[in-house]
Amino acid sequence: MSIIVQKFGGTSVADSDRILAAARKAVRAQQNGKQVVMVVSAMGKNTDHLIELASQVNADPPAREMDMLLSTGEQVSVALMAMAIDSMGHKAVSLTGGQIGIRTDSSHTKARIQSISTERLQRLLEDGNIVIAAGFQGIDEDYNITTLGRGGSDTTAVALAAVLQAEACEIYTDVDGVYTTDPRILPEARLVHQVSYDEMLELASLGAGVMHSRSIEFAKKFSVPIHVRNSMTDSTGSIIWQEPESENAAVSGAALTRDEARITLTSLPEQAQVVEEIFDAVSNRKVTVDMIVQNIATDGSVDLSFTVPEAEMSVTCEAIQPILKTYNARIRDIDGQVSKISIVGAGMANQVGVAQQMFSALANDDIPIQLITTSEIKLSVLVPRSKSLDALRLVHSCFGLEQTPQCLTQTDPKRDENVDAVQVVDRLREVGIEGLVIDEIQVDVSQASITINRVPNRAEAIAKLFEQLADGGVFIDMIVEGYEDQSLSDISFTIPKTQLEKAISISNEYREQFSCGEINIIDSIAKLSVSGIGLRSHTGVAVKTFHALAAADIPLVMINTSEIRVNVVVPGEHAEKAKLQIEKEFEENQI
Ligand code: ASP
Ligand code: MG
Repeated sequence: MSIIVQKFGGTSVADSDRILAAARKAVRAQQNGKQVVMVVSAMGKNTDHLIELASQVNADPPAREMDMLLSTGEQVSVALMAMAIDSMGHKAVSLTGGQIGIRTDSSHTKARIQSISTERLQRLLEDGNIVIAAGFQGIDEDYNITTLGRGGSDTTAVALAAVLQAEACEIYTDVDGVYTTDPRILPEARLVHQVSYDEMLELASLGAGVMHSRSIEFAKKFSVPIHVRNSMTDSTGSIIWQEPESENAAVSGAALTRDEARITLTSLPEQAQVVEEIFDAVSNRKVTVDMIVQNIATDGSVDLSFTVPEAEMSVTCEAIQPILKTYNARIRDIDGQVSKISIVGAGMANQVGVAQQMFSALANDDIPIQLITTSEIKLSVLVPRSKSLDALRLVHSCFGLEQTPQCLTQTDPKRDENVDAVQVVDRLREVGIEGLVIDEIQVDVSQASITINRVPNRAEAIAKLFEQLADGGVFIDMIVEGYEDQSLSDISFTIPKTQLEKAISISNEYREQFSCGEINIIDSIAKLSVSGIGLRSHTGVAVKTFHALAAADIPLVMINTSEIRVNVVVPGEHAEKAKLQIEKEFEENQI
């Protein structure tokens, strides 16, 4: 018999009526011939209240006791849910994370799942019970209660669906599904029918996600179809699955990350080790770095710009001071009033002109672009915060995101029978079920790079450059824009070696036209891509990559990071060595 996992978030179990409504959904699924596992969150804002209560008795409560406290929220919900189902004349059993056998590590308040035993769940299901699992919690080796981090019930639900080989995981929440952008910010946002795991991972990390990032990583790892639905209405919801909504659409979502800060460093030596040291120092302070842009060295020194949450700007600056001192480098500029606009789309990788279309849209409002980063399925720009909402609106409409795409992907998401789940689970047992999995380390030596210094950083000027390149038929892969000053930026991009001549002549003309600075060309680069699952939640991947290169004294030319991939560019002659180094670094994470 097939198993279905249904997860109900806090608002969907906020009061007795809603608990009864959720119970009816589960009973209905059982009557339709499914074995049903429910995963429930704490009622309403209960977790927030418990956190508030804790802070009243202790400003810095011990993490172990915090978990002890917070896990009670879910325990209340599962018991009530079981009673509700019983009142309808059906069999139900509630279980805590420990009773299910969700083993985690001991990092209280942000524990990771290591293993899940399924025997008891299976037995209860065979006996005709609806099993109700407490979300968000587990136990460590010593039977201490742990929690998985805020929003962690999603992860419990998808993890249970994975190990039980459920046919799907339904997420019942208080919104209708996944939108093209946050509908609270932009009313014209559209509910999407389907979104791919990779797109969802990028979007979730941009704060646009309805779901916990780690749950999407799980779903991808085990190919679990996720169905996000509103528990209060009968809307069709959105499916999260391997394929995007439409094969033809280049862009499927846009997001605004409002409170960012940019830090620009200058006069750094061109060694991967320096970059490694800087990001190591930052991550030691538990600050997550978002965009990273390193410009190609002109005089042997390097400029590095990166963004962090605005609230963490000062601690970041403090953390890197000693390193800057050692290398005689300095902070050139900081801006705490910036926001990031990103577009995401699985179709972006094989379409030309997407970047240019975005820059042209922004040019309509003469919006300065301080930084640009690209990945295979995402393009992000940093703009002044005062212009960010306008920028999001322009971008959303320029890709027609408010309209349903004409050709929708026809899929019937089913778990992939070809994935040998037993084998995957066995391997994951070694790296830990939530471990970082690197599935590919690629090297591409077919490209060259061009850097144009001192380009006006108005969207209009940037759009012109990529328009002229597109008109010349030049295919652009990576783009990075690093901050120079208020009005100027350095722009680097990569192109196929075969188009280098053409690209140089277009760049030269452009340089005349806009009175830019000098042009630097590297006629052979190696682009190394580390891709896998867990890059989002295992923040050390970029640092590890830098470390691998630093150990062999290989200089870094460009850096691009995303949720599913870390890309670094090194001079072409280092291709083989760099690949070996990175492979060695990630040996234990390969699947
Ligand atoms: N109750 C927990 C929270 O509020 C877990 C969850 O709802 O997913 O974060
Ligand atoms: Mg949630």
